[in-house]
Amino acid sequence: MSERLLVVEDDAVIGAGLVAALEANGYAVGWATSGSDALTRCTADIPDLILLDLGLPDLDGTEVCRRLRRAAPDATIVMLTARRDEIDVVLALEAGADDYLTKPFRLAELLARLRAHLRRPRPAVPTSDQLHVGDLAVDLAARRVTMGGEQVELRPKEFDLLALLAAEAGRVVTRERIMSDVWDEHWFGSTKTLDTHVSALRRKLDCGRDVPSRITTLRGVGYRLEAE
Ligand code: CA
Repeated sequence: MSERLLVVEDDAVIGAGLVAALEANGYAVGWATSGSDALTRCTADIPDLILLDLGLPDLDGTEVCRRLRRAAPDATIVMLTARRDEIDVVLALEAGADDYLTKPFRLAELLARLRAHLRRPRPAVPTSDQLHVGDLAVDLAARRVTMGGEQVELRPKEFDLLALLAAEAGRVVTRERIMSDVWDEHWFGSTKTLDTHVSALRRKLDCGRDVPSRITTLRGVGYRLEAE
């Protein structure tokens, strides 16, 4: 059965192009041209993945995202955003979006991202004490990390940070969420401590690897542990 996508895009040219390209790649695609249209369609028939343009004519994009998340808790939401909307991206990720792509993007990039998201169910809560991301294994109960079978020594906050990124592997985790989950507080000031810990993790996890790092920086937004 084809995976069902819902494209939410008010721009007729971009929307038609997306729908045609996605259908050509084997997806069953619906198209909503406004936020309220998207919410109506989601109530009738919940898609597997929603491609949500953040700039919609009728409703604020983050509000649409929040309501879609409620209407379709199991659907993956990937936002499409203009580069200037950095703040909106953070808000929308907080509102329940799983990922985002900045316009203009290449079709190949979009398809790769869709495949990665549709390949696996939403992780939400890890069902076992072990998280596996490529050759990385994170044992949550023993608080132990191995890479290719070799133990990696991590400091406590480095472990907590990696456990969070690994639970959401392949997805963006916002700086705000990391600060509140790992450091137990909302952080309005400097988040330099986060960058320091990411640097330390990279030193320990990327040794012997070619660039790029396992941990991708999404400037001003957050970090993503690459699912490989
Ligand atoms: Ca738009």
